[in-house]
Amino acid sequence: MSDNGKASGGCMCGAVRYEVRGEPVWVGHCHCESCRRHTGAPVVTYASFKADQVDFKIGQRRIYNSSPGVARGFCGECGTPLTWEGTDDPARGPIVEVHISTLDDPDAFVPTNHLFYPERIKWFDVYDDLPRYEGFDFESDVCRRGPAPMV
Ligand SMILES: [Zn+2]
Ligand SMILES: [Zn+2]
Repeated sequence: MSDNGKASGGCMCGAVRYEVRGEPVWVGHCHCESCRRHTGAPVVTYASFKADQVDFKIGQRRIYNSSPGVARGFCGECGTPLTWEGTDDPARGPIVEVHISTLDDPDAFVPTNHLFYPERIKWFDVYDDLPRYEGFDFESDVCRRGPAPMV
């Protein structure tokens, strides 16, 4: 994040640009099948913000409603996946999670957990000691810390 508490990001072609303000609610890796399918990646890393911390400055993302209360934003020109957006969680309020790899400086946001770890592709793991949760961190238990043993 820059000194003024803002960070910017956008899609591959530049048609959609966004800005985030302040500290993210959390930063983590999601291994769920839906996120993997939306992005085509083996794991997806998010910086999660309250919706009013995120502004789309140039262009508008297109939205795909992947399940009730869940929207996924992407660039309609180049197809870059940009966001996971949740609207129906009364505890957290509207959430916009940006795919960390679409930030101009993803090094500024450091993940602290793995979510939906049991859904991961079994050959995929990373060598860190972060807690692995069965689902979201606020609703599930840590199922392990550190990578699974080599098989
Ligand atoms: Zn684009
Ligand atoms: Zn996910």
